[in-house]
Parts: sequence; structure tokens; C-alpha cells
Amino acid sequence: MTIQTVRGVRDILPEESGRWLFLEERARRILAQYGYRELRTPVFERTELFARAVGETSDIVEKEMYVFEDRGGESLCLRPEGTASAVRSFIEGSRHRSLPWRVFYLGPMFRYERPQKGRFRQFHQLGCELFGPEGPLADAEMMALVLRLLREIGIAGAVTLEINSLGCPVCRGPYRERLTAHLESVRAALCGNCQRRLERNPLRVLDCKEENAALLEAVPQMRDHLCGGCAAHFQGLVGHLERLGLPYRINPLMVRGLDYYHRTAFEAVAEGLGAQNAVAAGGRYDGLVAEMGGVATSAVGFAMGLERLLLLMDESLGGAIAPEVYLVVAGDEGVEGYGLGVAEALRGAGFRVEMHLTGGGMKSQMKHAGRSQAPLTVIVGQQEAQEATVMLKQMESGTQESLPVGGLVERLRQLTG
Ligand code: ATP
Ligand code: MG
Repeated sequence: MTIQTVRGVRDILPEESGRWLFLEERARRILAQYGYRELRTPVFERTELFARAVGETSDIVEKEMYVFEDRGGESLCLRPEGTASAVRSFIEGSRHRSLPWRVFYLGPMFRYERPQKGRFRQFHQLGCELFGPEGPLADAEMMALVLRLLREIGIAGAVTLEINSLGCPVCRGPYRERLTAHLESVRAALCGNCQRRLERNPLRVLDCKEENAALLEAVPQMRDHLCGGCAAHFQGLVGHLERLGLPYRINPLMVRGLDYYHRTAFEAVAEGLGAQNAVAAGGRYDGLVAEMGGVATSAVGFAMGLERLLLLMDESLGGAIAPEVYLVVAGDEGVEGYGLGVAEALRGAGFRVEMHLTGGGMKSQMKHAGRSQAPLTVIVGQQEAQEATVMLKQMESGTQESLPVGGLVERLRQLTG
């Protein structure tokens, strides 16, 4: 029996990694434009971190975490998301002393979910966290960043930005009571999971993935129950989005799956990904730092799923990087050694060179050269090795020229611009 990958987990093969690199490079460039620097946190943390930050009643903590005991008997888990670690790091480093703190992370997350299109057990998130600013300006800037990133990789047209306000501890409590009363009155029509949610976290019912849209139509909405501060914050956000001309849609039923959101919640939702339609999700979590034992600090953040972005991204973007030069070498060990020296000299001058390493006749080597997509082939044989020359072939036109090895770099520079 051969060993295979774990269910819901896969290799990113060399054929695909160019697309990943393209996406990551574009993203890093835009993040730098907005002043974000990378935070690299550990892939595993204490289980308690997520239990506290994400919430005991969240799907993630209740049923999706990879939890294990290490050899010392401590309960650890693979990180299911990035915000909890960023908050831990913020508190550990006493970052409240020099606000704002803008960080991004990019890396694998782990959730025990049912694998399907756009849903994996190991997947990759890019996320930003901005600690300090309280006002809606920060929320608007973050949404502008998300939309710019989507535009940059050519998928903004397929994605809608949805926003909502989840209120704050002042207004959410009373709203929650109204909502609970309403949901109790239609309890029998709710799915099994929602009937259970009703006791523990009624807001989650609004997030139900089952088809009960009709049922939710008449539900009281948070937006109609915001306190003055929350209403002003939301109006401020909408005003900034309008002034920037950023397209958005208010979705009064969007609640987000995590416990820590305050006020702003947003999602970037795509057509054509089925139930896995959220490509990015985020919001404001003003209470979390204090709840985790830090000095009370406002914060806003988002995370996007890279696998889902790649499903939407055009096939042609970020293809494999072809060599500039293919080096064919036909002859004895001495000739091969000469060829290796030529390849190294070209790499030293900055060229991408793929050298033929497996011998064979000139004809079969030239076939490999053609397949490599390199526009130029350098051919080295007995005669070239003796005379310290090379044969250079331009693949498209078929033009060949013999030249001294000392002049090769300059000639290649001419030809490749
Ligand atoms: P969903 O509703 O799709 O389960 P979520 O609310 O659990 O998403 P978040 O925890 O907010 O998602 O994570 C942010 C983003 O990470 C999502 O919008 C999605 O793009 C991506 N993501 C989340 N879980 C997975 C997964 N199992 N596989 C691939 N991408 C994922
Ligand atoms: Mg989920």
C-alpha cells in the first residue's frame, strides 16, 4: 500500500504554484502600499487561545479544530484562523504602547470540515489586522484594500462586498432578546442545528446555510436596533464607501460565524462557488483585546481564502516561468563539464538557464529544448568545447550563430532586451 495525502488536504503542484506565487506577490505589493507588515505566528497554539478568542459556541471551536495533546500533556491545536494569534502577539508584545499596529499574515489554517469545492481541511488565508483606530475610517480603508486586491487579480467583477453592523454590547443584548422571542415563535420551522443554536447563540441562526430564507424575512434586524454610537459608526462607514465610489450592498442578515465581532461585519461574496461563496470576511472586534487580558484596544480585520480566490482567477494568470535559455550539451565528460561552466556563467549574469542533464543525442535534446519554451538554446559539442565557443539558436526563427563564449552574455542581453 502506498501512502496518500490526508482527506481534505492536498499538494500544490509545481504546475499550480506559479499561480499561487502570482497571487501572493500581488497581495504583498498591495499590503505594503497600505502600510501592513507581515506577522508570522506559529502554526500551533494552546487550545485555550481559540476557545477564548473565537468562542466556545462557534462552529470552529465546537467541531472543527485539530486538537491534540503534546508529550508533556498540554492541549494544543493547529490554528483554525489567524486573528486569535495576532491578538495574542499584540498583547504579549505590549503593542498598545505604539498604536496603530498594522499586520498581515499569510499561511495555512486547519479545520476539520467536510471537504468539497473551495473547502479543505488545510487551506490558506491572507488576513490583515489593524489595532488602534476606532472610527469607520479604518473600516473603510480596509474594505478599499480588499477591493483593490480583488481588482488587481482580475476578480472584482465577480465579487460583491456585503456589509452590516452587529451592534455593540449596549445594543446587542436587547436585540438578542427580541430576536430570540421571534425565533421561539417559529421554532418548529427551524432546522435541527438552528434549534440548538437558539439556546446558545440565537444570532447564529441568521447565518444558517440551510434554505430558510422565507423564515428569516420577517426576523427583527440588528440594523433597526443599533444604539446611537453604532448607528453613527455605520453611517460613517457608508459615507466613506460612497465617497470612494466603492460598490457595496447592505446585507442585514449577515452575522459572521465568530463571536468577537462588534459593529462592522463584511464579506466579499462571489458568484459561482456554491455554498463556499465567501472569498473574504472580516469586521471590527473592539472588545477582543480586553477580553483576552490586554489593554482595551479597538481593532478591525479580515481574512481571505486563497483557494477560493484561485478558483475565480483567470487561468492565464501566473503560469509557469519558462527558462530564458536551454543548454544542450552533446559529448564526453569534458564537453559536459564545459557546458556546465557555461550554464553557471549565464546564471551568474542573471539568466534563467535549464541545462540538459540526461545525455542523449542532439535530436532528442533539441526536442527537450523546444518543450521547455525557452526562446534561446545554447548548443555545446566537442568542437565548441575545444574552441571555447558556443552555438546559439533563436528558437522562433531558427537562426543559428557561432560565437566565442566570452561574448555570449552580451549577445543574450541584446536578444532578450
Ligand atoms: P464559510 O462560511 O465558507 O465556512 P467562514 O465564515 O468559516 O467561511 P472565516 O472563518 O471568516 O470563514 O474565514 C475567512 C475566509 O477563509 C472565508 O471567507 C473563506 O474564503 C476561507 N475559508 C474558510 N474556511 C475554509 C475552508 N475550510 N477551506 C477553504 N477556505 C476556507
Ligand atoms: Mg466555516
